[in-house]
Order: sequence, then C-alpha cells, then structure tokens
Amino acid sequence: MDTQNKDLDVEKETVQSKKINCAGIGGSLGHPKVYLDMGDLNEIRCPYCSKLFILENS
Ligand SMILES: [Zn+2]
Repeated sequence: MDTQNKDLDVEKETVQSKKINCAGIGGSLGHPKVYLDMGDLNEIRCPYCSKLFILENS
C-alpha cells in the first residue's frame, strides 16, 4: 500500500474513463450515486465522500 498520504480517510481509485460514478463505499459512508466528469483534468474528487478518482493513462 502507498503510505505517503497520511489522509487515511481518502480512498483512491484508478479508472479508465473520465466519466465515472460514485456511491460511496457503503455503510454509513455511502451516499446517493452521483456521476462525475473530470473534464480537462485527470482526476476528480467525489464531493460526497472525498474519494479520489485518478485517470489511468495507458
Ligand atoms: Zn463518493
């Protein structure tokens, strides 16, 4: 695991599309599904659960 980021509350997920959806990680941290578009960026943070989605460049 990458331990250089001490913010343990932030989940990261590598994705292959700039358009993703997030519904949290379930339980008390879950939230209604939202659709996010990175636009010109290569990453986006979910406004509900702060999960960070990072675009995978092949
Ligand atoms: Zn989320």
